[in-house]
Amino acid sequence: MLKHCTLCPRDCGVDRTSGELGFCGADDTIRIGLASLHKWEEPCLSGTNGAGTVFFCHCSLRCVFCQNHDISGHAAAEAGIATDISGLADTFLSLEQQGAHNIDLVTPTQYAYHLSHAIPLARSRGLSIPIIYNCGGYESVETLRMLDGMIDIYLPDFKYFSSYYAQRYSSAPDYYDVAVEAIEEMVRQTDIPVMDADGFLRSGTIIRHLMLPGLSGDTAQVLRCISSHWGSRVLVSLMRQFTPCTDLTGYPELERRLTDAEYEDACFLMDMLGLEGWTQDAESISESFIPHFDGSGVCHD
Ligand code: SF4
Repeated sequence: MLKHCTLCPRDCGVDRTSGELGFCGADDTIRIGLASLHKWEEPCLSGTNGAGTVFFCHCSLRCVFCQNHDISGHAAAEAGIATDISGLADTFLSLEQQGAHNIDLVTPTQYAYHLSHAIPLARSRGLSIPIIYNCGGYESVETLRMLDGMIDIYLPDFKYFSSYYAQRYSSAPDYYDVAVEAIEEMVRQTDIPVMDADGFLRSGTIIRHLMLPGLSGDTAQVLRCISSHWGSRVLVSLMRQFTPCTDLTGYPELERRLTDAEYEDACFLMDMLGLEGWTQDAESISESFIPHFDGSGVCHD
């Protein structure tokens, strides 16, 4: 798979084992920016101890506004710590030993092949907590099928309705069609959300939508799409935390935060459509939620 990489819809076909790089910039070595307990996911994932987040370097979307740009963009090859499949499995086990409620794989798609080996290996070494696939929503159905049975919770973004914005901000004009097909496969795999007696999500799909300034119409279309395709079979997390934190030269429209009115209108629509899930308080708008990617917590030789 890594010799002719088609793990994501970019279908680069590059030989990552010989150092050739595709759109995401990842070769065949796993690089991780940080593995730590993280308390800022949805309450049914973070709980009291935190989700066991594993922030992977590189990304197959590379949105211009990415808050994790230190490990997703041009500097990703120098960021974080390198490990292998066995080290990745041990990283999961270490997070469980620290009290993580789950393993939260953040931006994992470029390492889906490695994960298809690391997850069973970690299970064979005793990992017992759920696995979350926390991704950009721009996913290949074939890759998701390879992971069928290994992922307990899918946590995809659903970023855009309009191909114009999808191209402008993520160089992915086919984002909407790809995301709908991918989320359909995720929901097929996980079925309806199941909570345990303590309020933790054990399985299911949560769709995240990060609102962008000035794109209220696009948000409305995304919410309507979620309602008509999946309704109560998914949970929805409507996020207002967008903060300009990258060089946005050429994108002046993104150099502001969301207004209260923009967010409240979207919350109203989400409610009207009967979508279950979460909205965010104004306090969530803070760069302090962005982790420091120093490579800590990663097990390696
Ligand atoms: S995972 Fe990376 S190399 Fe592979 S198809 Fe996607 S962008 Fe290209």
